[in-house]
Amino acid sequence: MECVQHCSSCRTLSEKDICNICANDNRADTQLCIVETPSDIHAIEQSSIYKGKYFVLSGYLSPIDGIGAVELGLDVLKDKLHKQDIKEVILATNATIEGEVTAHYINNMAKQFDIRITRIAHGLPIGGELEYADINTIAHALSGRKDYY
Ligand SMILES: [Zn+2]
Repeated sequence: MECVQHCSSCRTLSEKDICNICANDNRADTQLCIVETPSDIHAIEQSSIYKGKYFVLSGYLSPIDGIGAVELGLDVLKDKLHKQDIKEVILATNATIEGEVTAHYINNMAKQFDIRITRIAHGLPIGGELEYADINTIAHALSGRKDYY
């Protein structure tokens, strides 16, 4: 039985220490797309317009459930932003209240670095989750992303 673990770089589920996307030299290290779940990576990959790397939160900020910055790996993310040559962070959390709050938090954390911060456009319905969006909607959301303030 294969042992599924978390990629030590992006935290997605992987059978290896470093997942196939992180290990792919043809993908840009300068773009980092922040998603809530591994399923979101799968959804975005279906649209095949994104050629950067990912970071998986495995959820969203929810203090009431005891899910804070550390649980989402935001300390790891901050370290990545500090040490790696990342030029753009794409906030691709869901268009839900929790997803927006999480995006806002990451924006505040990332803006201390000299990094462009964008948010995917919401051709996604309000309350919509990436996982359930069709390929065209995801492609539109990514290509129409805007600078986040
Ligand atoms: Zn990875």
